[in-house]
Amino acid sequence: MSIYPSQGPIFDTHAHYSSGAFNADREAVLDGLPAKGVVGVCEQATHSGDAPRCLALAHAYPWVWAAIGIHPESLLPADKCGSAPPAPTISVYGGDWAAEMKALAPFYDDPKVVAVGECGLDYHWPVPKEAQQALFEAEIRLALELDKPIVVHDREAHADVYALLKKYKPKGILHCYSGSAEDAVWLARQGILIGFGGAATFKGAKRAAKVIDALPLESILLETDCPYMAPEPVRGTRCDSSLIAYVGEYIAQRKGVPAETVFAQTAANARRVFRLEP
Ligand SMILES: [Zn+2]
Repeated sequence: MSIYPSQGPIFDTHAHYSSGAFNADREAVLDGLPAKGVVGVCEQATHSGDAPRCLALAHAYPWVWAAIGIHPESLLPADKCGSAPPAPTISVYGGDWAAEMKALAPFYDDPKVVAVGECGLDYHWPVPKEAQQALFEAEIRLALELDKPIVVHDREAHADVYALLKKYKPKGILHCYSGSAEDAVWLARQGILIGFGGAATFKGAKRAAKVIDALPLESILLETDCPYMAPEPVRGTRCDSSLIAYVGEYIAQRKGVPAETVFAQTAANARRVFRLEP
């Protein structure tokens, strides 16, 4: 498999270029992406600390857009963060996520902010469940009120995430999908697009294979979650949007269609969900 067959158009619906992992060469990486077929990136904020950096990237690059929201991990109590500093949700707002949401409200007036996110539920980390559920519910309601799509993170919390999506029926994206094929199908029927990144290509990702087989291409999005989740065969390296080429090729193989078809359809899906000009 060649690394840059320039199949493009690659639309990376979920990236974290504001991450410290890109501090040494952020501009060089982003400047190099269009030559590798990347036509769009949706940069994801996780709290009020990185939101301004995400929006600055969206303003610096015409093909970058931003999602603004509070990630459930941002509620991780200071004594559970290990060596990492707590998020501003804790260090600035003392866990008062409603106050932080209020502070983020002006961001949604910016035309480059196309979604509410990244938000959701994460039961992997010791984040108090009640607080993250209340935060997620408030962010779903905000997305409905603003009439914007939502970008959902679901880690080991399928039942509770689905219950809220069923109750409110927001439009949007379930990123780095890890649920069953059956659940993906009803989520897609309800207007949720399903995001796949490097993890779908990992050996042993049998569940993801079944989900890809069960979904129409119209319901599938490509994403990196970079700097994390580089696909096979470059697993473990720092990821960037160009490496989605591998994920697209994998999906094309499973679906028995040309890679160009996968890239073109998933890029069109991304523009549809973020309501961008075609
Ligand atoms: Zn993310």
